Amino acid sequence: MRYDGLELWWVDLALRQPVGTSAGTHRARPVVFVRVLAGGGDGWGECGALPDGTAVDPALDAVWGLLAEVVPARLGRAAAARGGEVPPASVVAHLFDTTPANRMAAAVVEMAVLDLELQAAGRSLADHLGVPDQVRAGGPGGGVPAGAVVGIPDDGRLRTLVAAVGRQVDRGYGRVRVKIRPGWDVAPLAALRDAFPDLVLQADANAAYRVDDAGRLAELDDLGIGCLEQPLAAADLAGHADLAGRLATPIGLDESLTTVRAVADAIRYGACRVACLKPARLGGLLAARRAQDRCRQAGVSAFVGGLFETGLGRTANAVLSGLPGLDLPGDLSDPSDYLVDNPAPYPRPVGGRVPLPAVPGVGSRPDRHALSQLGALVERFDRAG
Ligand code: MG
Repeated sequence: MRYDGLELWWVDLALRQPVGTSAGTHRARPVVFVRVLAGGGDGWGECGALPDGTAVDPALDAVWGLLAEVVPARLGRAAAARGGEVPPASVVAHLFDTTPANRMAAAVVEMAVLDLELQAAGRSLADHLGVPDQVRAGGPGGGVPAGAVVGIPDDGRLRTLVAAVGRQVDRGYGRVRVKIRPGWDVAPLAALRDAFPDLVLQADANAAYRVDDAGRLAELDDLGIGCLEQPLAAADLAGHADLAGRLATPIGLDESLTTVRAVADAIRYGACRVACLKPARLGGLLAARRAQDRCRQAGVSAFVGGLFETGLGRTANAVLSGLPGLDLPGDLSDPSDYLVDNPAPYPRPVGGRVPLPAVPGVGSRPDRHALSQLGALVERFDRAG
């Protein structure tokens, strides 16, 4: 397909409620989309970067800067080297270096090129990634299980937390991941366990603890928590391995897993029994597929972590979650649950499961009219020459 250029779309979306974590509170959700134009068609990707970034992820502004200032020329040169053809999705990641902002930019461009390629080939993303037939099938038992995320309530009250988790349970989600921090850990999880004896609960600490807190964290062992996620700093694989030996609750990693190599290192260290894989952070869907393969081979459970995506990014995550190594429910709740406006469709979860789209392409695309109505800003970069 002849490369024609690309568009960057920036839209300011509002969260229904602020999401509190140990590292700060998410209050708004600006989102950047990339639209690659080629051969008369187009493909869309969604950037995962959050407005303020995280301890290991760049802020959205930094990724936007790269996308606007560097990527158009880079993609143009890559196309020129191929006689004007769009580079295949399988090589897009190689056009970027390995800084966090580059990985995030690679992920969104790769998604857009993949969408374009799969539409031209008449193939679905599930087919392309190798999702098994029984998962791709519609009807009961098909699709992937969805989990939800609940932050630390603004008012710091247990009753508010229990009510918020109850709303997710009522929506059919069988797994809820809640945010914890020192001083907001054992009591809230005990209250949730009391209220929802059978719910799969995960606790996400966003690196708020130290190895010295092992005694405190061991109090979680009686509560049947599916995983204690990222208790320590991202770089501290040895500390996580140490904690794993002292706690019965399985240790999960999220911020530590920035590259496929980092996933392999964490496994080698024995630093986690559960991996939270984020395609946007790892450098794209194809890197995430390699990461899940490493986890599966090592017997480490894994799930796809969310970044408050719109329907496009979350649809891609749902499809990825159909791969065998992603054996735990991902953050795949309906974007309409947390976004006031969702400009890209998402398959409606049924009984806590998300059916996977069978249409050619990634399976969702933003509605340009809706984006314009929401005041989206568009920058277009035509192919030079
Ligand atoms: Mg996390």
